[in-house]
Amino acid sequence: MFVDKTLVCRGCGQEFIFTAGEQQFYQLKGLLNEPGRCPTCRAARKAARASAGLDELEPRRREMHPTICAECGAQTLVPFLPRGDKPVYCSPCFDRVRAMSR
Ligand SMILES: [Zn+2]
Ligand SMILES: [Zn+2]
Repeated sequence: MFVDKTLVCRGCGQEFIFTAGEQQFYQLKGLLNEPGRCPTCRAARKAARASAGLDELEPRRREMHPTICAECGAQTLVPFLPRGDKPVYCSPCFDRVRAMSR
């Protein structure tokens, strides 16, 4: 037999009821862990995941510009338009240059 249980939400710290019906459902599903979050937080996380999923489907594409690395001469793509007043590096060289200037 199941009885309603009061649990504390990990997300918002509010108490919520893990009802007997839900416990039964969890057991049917073979879920051993009690829910860590209240229904509100669960719904919010689900919505956040759903919108994250949509963003993945339609990524905001950054325009890439081909340029020549000032360090090794390799062709590379940079997410900005090189204006020629600053050296542009490919990403391995950029990391190296940045590490050296530290
Ligand atoms: Zn919560
Ligand atoms: Zn390079």
